[in-house]
Amino acid sequence: MPSTLQPFLPLLDTLNRPLHDLRISVTDRCNFRCAYCMPKAVFGKDYPYLPHSALLSFEEITRLARQFVALGVRKIRLTGGEPLLRKNIERLVEQLAMLRTPDGHPLDLALTTNGSLLTQKARALKDAGLTRITVSLDSLDDATFRRMNDMDFPVHSVLEGIATAQSAGFGRIKINMVVQRGVNDHEVLPMARYFHGHNVALRFIEYMDVGSTNGWQAKQVVPSEQLLAQLQQHFHLTELPRQSGETATRWGYCRTNSTGADPSLGELGFISSVSQAFCRSCTRARLSTEGQLYLCLFAHQGHDLRSLLRNGVDDTTLQTRIATIWQQRQDRYSELRSLGQIPNTVVDQPLRRIEMSYIGG
Ligand code: SAM
Ligand code: SF4
Ligand code: SF4
Repeated sequence: MPSTLQPFLPLLDTLNRPLHDLRISVTDRCNFRCAYCMPKAVFGKDYPYLPHSALLSFEEITRLARQFVALGVRKIRLTGGEPLLRKNIERLVEQLAMLRTPDGHPLDLALTTNGSLLTQKARALKDAGLTRITVSLDSLDDATFRRMNDMDFPVHSVLEGIATAQSAGFGRIKINMVVQRGVNDHEVLPMARYFHGHNVALRFIEYMDVGSTNGWQAKQVVPSEQLLAQLQQHFHLTELPRQSGETATRWGYCRTNSTGADPSLGELGFISSVSQAFCRSCTRARLSTEGQLYLCLFAHQGHDLRSLLRNGVDDTTLQTRIATIWQQRQDRYSELRSLGQIPNTVVDQPLRRIEMSYIGG
């Protein structure tokens, strides 16, 4: 369906940031209990997850996504909770893969998963039109991995999932490792060694103060700069150009006696959300499982799009509402935190923030 409101383009927020990326959370449930995201003490048996009727249906998600695409979104990432837990997720992928940008291009359609169900799902996702996969993996050491997912899930199943996705035809897979001092920072070098020579992009993510339940403290963050210096002692690395909309700085591996990166060896990336805020280039909107639109990972409040949908408004009204919300966007949480304008510990912040498992990473 063609876009109805071309006059909004380019759609810019108050800091001149365009709307280019949309993250869609398809479930608030997960089969892992990573302590930095869904600590067991909070997300226990009695946790009030959303009832099925509250979730956006695939048709509702696709209809909303179509409006975002008409307003400039070129990349959609499915996330959660664990997105592969949502029944028949490949049908949603199929619907989203049919959307086209205003100038007729297909979307960059990605998904972030903990990899636990990838062996079963990779082929169906590829056939449905998913273009890229990111797998979260915090350790190769089985004992550390089982402890971190807190569900005793073995690491070999995730590695098998990654291999299955590669043989299903997914190109360079991204592997996300959240690094926490004293928990898995000893696994940084083994991870880099293991994936060196495989066609993957291994990315180290600074542990973020997202949500209100993980008890984040600044001293648990290992700054990217420190990790890079450590890795440079073992690998000959060269910085790669930053891709548009990419939040990671990227480094390629060089072979001995060469200064150019050899892409076949894979690459490393660093997402320095805490030590080097990138709010000024943040072009991301987030849609929660129940259809709330959030403009920042650290927001306290969303904008209810589900009610609009269920009240039967037309596409023009939906697009106008989304465009107006984006035009008023001022969010730059990480930047304010690094300027010292927001307290550096979660407990010192009065308002309850959304959880990562609710909105997706
Ligand atoms: N369950 C899926 C997964 O783990 O890939 C998708 C959702 S998860 C919330 C998305 C990403 O957010 C994961 O890569 C996870 O490691 C990351 N994440 C969660 N909590 C985080 C935190 N406090 N700091 C940094 N990254 C975090
Ligand atoms: Fe689940 Fe992903 Fe959160 Fe871990 S990071 S608890 S896998 S949603
Ligand atoms: Fe974007 Fe908010 Fe993160 Fe800044 S803190 S980069 S505005 S999501």
